[in-house]
Amino acid sequence: EQAEHGATTDVHPGSAPQAVGPPLLVLRGVDKHFGELHVLQDVDLTVGKGEVVVVLGPSGSGKSTLCRVINRLETIGSGSITIDGQELPEEGKGLAQLRADVGMVFQSFNLFAHKTVLENVTLGPMKVRKVPASQARERARELLRRVGVESQADKYPAQLSGGQQQRVAIARALAMEPKIILFDEPTSALDPEMVTEVLDVMVSLARAGMTMVVVTHEMGFARRAANRVVFMADGKVVEEGDPESFFTAPRTARAQDFLSKIL
Ligand code: ADP
Ligand code: MG
Repeated sequence: EQAEHGATTDVHPGSAPQAVGPPLLVLRGVDKHFGELHVLQDVDLTVGKGEVVVVLGPSGSGKSTLCRVINRLETIGSGSITIDGQELPEEGKGLAQLRADVGMVFQSFNLFAHKTVLENVTLGPMKVRKVPASQARERARELLRRVGVESQADKYPAQLSGGQQQRVAIARALAMEPKIILFDEPTSALDPEMVTEVLDVMVSLARAGMTMVVVTHEMGFARRAANRVVFMADGKVVEEGDPESFFTAPRTARAQDFLSKIL
């Protein structure tokens, strides 16, 4: 995988990947209201191929809504969202296809409780991508190995630790071969000792060139893997920059205030 990205990818421990390709996800002037609440205000965001963007900001600033509009779990009021040059349609077959290109990993794992780990990973590819069962199972085992839970394949989610469940959720997202994966506070519901095992998987994905938007307050992850940090407050992108500058010298009062509370 290193060879794939050649000399432009910096794989030294502690430094972020450098390879950022052409725009993959583009949000322009995205606005959304929930009734009176202006939850997203004129949001512009461009994520390049292979780029890892960490989104942070206070609770209620619109981070989850941002993730949800990107795969149309929520509609937008105005503005546009394009993935790989294609505008997200409101509904229909095109939407299902585009949605399949956007993986999503939630805080609460959201695995199918009544399906085995292996079934959780094969279901999407078989249903949406029409991959034959034997091929889907083979690929699923490979992905479960990649995230370190291959020995859990025949268990049910409830029999796994939170960290293992979240790694299965990542394997499930990868199984769809998405162009981009959105992570919404993937480690917030985990016991502290399980946070690292999930972040390590995410760092390895980042280094392998996956395009990722990650809502997290894990500074360590941002420093190890992010190309860029985007800080949101009150539905707006207030500040963005490289992780090191953002964490050591935030420019806006809002970001300074936020960091003083979480650092
Ligand atoms: P964050 O993820 O940054 O904490 P959210 O995107 O979840 O923020 O929420 C932003 C604001 O929108 C909050 O004030 C929240 O209460 C509100 N909100 C989120 N989802 C809905 C909804 N479905 N209906 C009404 N208000 C919502
Ligand atoms: Mg949220």
